[in-house]
Amino acid sequence: MAFKLPDLPYDYKALEPHFDGKTMKIHYGKHHAGYTNKLNGAIEGTDLEKLSIEELLKKHAASNTGVRNNGGGFYNHSLFWKILSPEGGDGSFPKTSKFGKDFLKTFGTLEKFKEDFSKTAATRFGSGWAWLCLNKRKKLKICSTPNQDNPLMNVETNGCSGKPLLGLDVWEHAYYLKYQNKRPDYIEAFFSIVNWKQVSKNYNAAVK
Ligand code: MN
Repeated sequence: MAFKLPDLPYDYKALEPHFDGKTMKIHYGKHHAGYTNKLNGAIEGTDLEKLSIEELLKKHAASNTGVRNNGGGFYNHSLFWKILSPEGGDGSFPKTSKFGKDFLKTFGTLEKFKEDFSKTAATRFGSGWAWLCLNKRKKLKICSTPNQDNPLMNVETNGCSGKPLLGLDVWEHAYYLKYQNKRPDYIEAFFSIVNWKQVSKNYNAAVK
């Protein structure tokens, strides 16, 4: 079964002024669609077609470059759109949920988390992603990966492994039109639209 580009859960312009509509249209309609098509091309006619995207990444990213790059691109962007929302930002943070309590116990405050996460995202050299993930010991961790790698993959990740709960795309294609080379400004804008309710749902699914 071929993978399908998931619907964007809002209009291209819905995240303005933080993420502009033109960037969203190209990012979703060209980049994400491109990864999806190339992933399907990489697995067409093979047994890999039977696997879920998670299984594909866990078991085959290390040995199959097409799966690693395009399967990563497919999965990472699918997660990215979901953890963004026009109703996001600090106000959506569920302080009293299981996730909220664990998060605050781990990072202290939302502000402190943002500082640490921003540093990780800003210092990722070249293209890649910054993550909040739940590691194998069920601990919340901030980390980053290069290119379209992610914490699900069985590849060299410098300790960045686990289940991704929140991801930030720091490829230039994600921000160049509006922010040019100013990645820190893009990272700051990101926090205004983080859908913390969805991150909490991702945590509930991962912690089981
Ligand atoms: Mn991207």
